[in-house]
Amino acid sequence: KRDEVPVQVHGIDPNLVDHRAVDVVQTLKDEGYEAYIVGGAVRDLLLGLRPKDFDVATNATPEQVKSLFRRAFIIGKRFRIVHVVYGRGRENEVIEVSTFRAFLDNSAAEAVSGNERTSKVQLASMKHAVDASGRVLRDNVWGPQDQDATRRDFTINAMYYDPETQIVVDYHGGIADAKKKVLRMIGDPATRYREDPVRIIRAVRFAAKLAGKGFKLDAKTAKPLVECEPLLNDVPQSRLFDEMLKLLQTGHAIASVEQLKALGLSRGIYPLLDVVMERADHPFVQAALIDTDRRVGEGKPVAPSFLLACVLWQDVKTGWEKRLAKGSHPFPALQESIDEVFDARIGDVSGRGKLAADMREIWVMQPRFDKRTGATPLSLVAQPRFRAGFDFLRLRADVGEIEESLAAWWQEFQQANDAVREDLIAQAR
Ligand code: ATP
Ligand code: MG
Repeated sequence: KRDEVPVQVHGIDPNLVDHRAVDVVQTLKDEGYEAYIVGGAVRDLLLGLRPKDFDVATNATPEQVKSLFRRAFIIGKRFRIVHVVYGRGRENEVIEVSTFRAFLDNSAAEAVSGNERTSKVQLASMKHAVDASGRVLRDNVWGPQDQDATRRDFTINAMYYDPETQIVVDYHGGIADAKKKVLRMIGDPATRYREDPVRIIRAVRFAAKLAGKGFKLDAKTAKPLVECEPLLNDVPQSRLFDEMLKLLQTGHAIASVEQLKALGLSRGIYPLLDVVMERADHPFVQAALIDTDRRVGEGKPVAPSFLLACVLWQDVKTGWEKRLAKGSHPFPALQESIDEVFDARIGDVSGRGKLAADMREIWVMQPRFDKRTGATPLSLVAQPRFRAGFDFLRLRADVGEIEESLAAWWQEFQQANDAVREDLIAQAR
């Protein structure tokens, strides 16, 4: 079952491999451990893409890994891994090192979390997680490489690359599937979705990401998606929110929307994603999705606050107009509408406070762009979040919601020197 595939067959270009990942693997191997680049990085390398991050898998425990590097930190509880840090400040690069995990089916996992039968799968490493839930325990039970491969999701995500020998270790026909351009779940798909329903969303995400490369979901992998979708109700909201952002903010938002439609998953993954899907064809939301894909493609940063502010702008405007019609003052009316929209649409997610603050700033800036006299323009451009507010204004102009000339004015104003700015303010009067 264990295939060792040489470079003549897989053709990975060593120049695409990050030297820090090579350093981590080599350091571990020099100490006598097994170590490989693993997962998404191997998949991307095989497809000729430069991976955005590198993960390493090893049979060394987190403590053993940590002891070998100057700057290494054990992180995570649900899934303990080591971050090996290279470089400084903004340039720093993290290589994630995980210890080979055992593949436990549900009955074996029961045995791990129960008391009597623990010996059956007992491993020294378990003591680190004994006081945690069964799930935590089972994600931290170390095992041999072949089991580590089997517990992964797709065949093309379950390969190991040794940069020294340039051999790819493949247990599940990942190389063949990459050649055939199929995205295939390891094992019985429905069982794997039941084990971890987030794999349903991952199927959509990789289908979207690789659609441009000609990949298709294997029929057996796609078939149970719809019937398994309700299982997502048991997944914590914050994890669903994070997965939704990965669908929308990793450069394949438009493709993800298409996949969700094609697979019959337009509704029911997560309430906010339902809203995105309902509005994906609205010019403003569509422009925001296209703009996000473009930015990611150009290597520019994207913020969830910006995209979500675009998606929910229609609700904010409706609530605002309703209040204005009742005679409320514009500013408190806008604030109240924002509060209402945020509470109704954004659940209990991590970083909620910051997300709320950033979205609010973008929205509150919009009416202020209309005032181009006095000191308002200068104080507005000086705001730390001006750029996000302006980008939002830009999109509104692009879809004809406001005058193009207003966006053009602000475009010029922000780039101008003081003298030109005075002229622009004078002209706007
Ligand atoms: P990306 O390029 O988007 O980071 P990735 O494949 O690296 O894609 P990660 O979420 O970074 O995805 O996960 C790394 C690897 O861990 C995957 O390639 C896969 O082997 C495994 N993995 C991650 N999440 C799961 C899961 N829910 N079930 C099974 N295996 C998983
Ligand atoms: Mg990854």
